[in-house]
Parts: sequence; C-alpha cells; structure tokens
Amino acid sequence: MKLLIVANWKMNPQSLAEAKRLFNSVKKEIKNVKKVKIVICPPFVYLANLKLGKNDLRLGAQDVFWEEKGAYTGQISPLMLKDLAIEYVIIGHSERRKYLSETDEMINKKLKVVLKTKLKPILCIGETEKEKKAGQTEKVLKSQLEKSLKNISRDKFQSNLLIAYEPIWAIGTGNPCHPKEAKKVLLFLRKIIKKNQILYGGSVNSENARDYIEKAGFQGLLVGGASLNAQEFIKIIRNTI
Ligand code: PEP
Repeated sequence: MKLLIVANWKMNPQSLAEAKRLFNSVKKEIKNVKKVKIVICPPFVYLANLKLGKNDLRLGAQDVFWEEKGAYTGQISPLMLKDLAIEYVIIGHSERRKYLSETDEMINKKLKVVLKTKLKPILCIGETEKEKKAGQTEKVLKSQLEKSLKNISRDKFQSNLLIAYEPIWAIGTGNPCHPKEAKKVLLFLRKIIKKNQILYGGSVNSENARDYIEKAGFQGLLVGGASLNAQEFIKIIRNTI
C-alpha cells in the first residue's frame, strides 16, 4: 500500500492562475516520486482546469452532495466529479461540521453515494479540545465512525474508504498532536477499522511529517496550510519517503 499525502487547499488560492502555478510546481517536482501517492484537493471551480500527468498525482474534491442530480441549488453531484476523472473526495471535514452544521447523518448519506459512484472518500474524524480534556476522544471517534458508516457493509467500504484522524484542536493551529498521542489513537481506531488506510491531519509540516508515518504508524497525511506553499509541501513529501 502506497503512502497517501493529501493537500487540502480549503478556500485557496483566490485565482485560477495561482491555482495552476501551485499545482504545476508540485506536479513538476514530484515527477520521480514513486513511493507516495499525492492527492490535491482544490476548490471545485479549479478542478476541471488542473491537468494531471502520468505520475502518481491525483485530484480530489473537498466535499460532495448526497444526491446524484436534481433541484439542489449550489450543490455538486458525485457524478459530476466522476465525469471529471476526480478520484478522491474529502467528507466530513471539521470546518464543514463547524461552519455548515454538517452532521454524521449527512456524512453517512454522502459516503453511501460516493461509494456507489466508486469515488474514494476520505472521511475526516476528530475530537475537539474540550472533548479531549474530558477524556472523551475514543468515545467521540467511535461514535463518529459508527454514525458515518451506518448501514454500509464492511465489504463496501473496505477497499475504497480512507480515514483521516484530524484532532480539531490541531487543525490550523500550529499545535500538532504529539506522534505518541496520535499513535495511541491510531491503535484504538485499528480496533474498529481493520484494513483501511488511516491518515493523520493537523498542523503537519516538513519537520514533523515523517514522525506520523515512522513513529506513529499512519499510512498517510492530510495537509492543510502547509500545502499552499509548493516548496514546503514538496519538502513534506520528500521528508516522508
Ligand atoms: C486540514 O485542513 O485538514 C488540516 C489538517 O489543516 P492544517 O494542516 O492547516 O492543520
């Protein structure tokens, strides 16, 4: 199984020209990288304009709707993503849960249609600082997983689903989860999710990236802020392999 490094650009950059520049810098630099699969998740509007090459660079979306078509103003269908040869889709990112009130039930509906469409969902789970301080991390993660995967058979999600453990208090804060702590969480998640690839996300940079793979045992990374700087993102990739 190849390591997976996912770049979540969030609502950045602010022009197509900048998006192309960032994308092409990464594409050029990773020409000879063989051990890692890299997935860039730009805003929807840039997806059709970023051209993949022959290497292990892939495109992903940051969200998707749970219906395939119809009167859902502003939403994006999984069929539209599939048509653009998009392979991955982030589901349930904590910023969507926070700012758009996305619930585990909505995430469950999204996962069902995404798996049906044969896109690869990257399901984000994670606890808040308050939940962590109250010793509820495992309880919260278990509940998020159970509700998100409700009525989806293991057979269905075993091959295509990826999980990203993203402690909310570590996202965009410059305060990453210590690899030892992250490892404990990973071991807990492994009791529930036996085979799927599990990634770590939360203030990953070129200095700490390797630790999450080597010391903590994650099979990939989800990188937000640091993926907007081509040189830093490339360093993350190089330091990981
Ligand atoms: C994220 O957006 O999923 C993320 C992990 O962000 P950052 O790397 O900036 O903490």
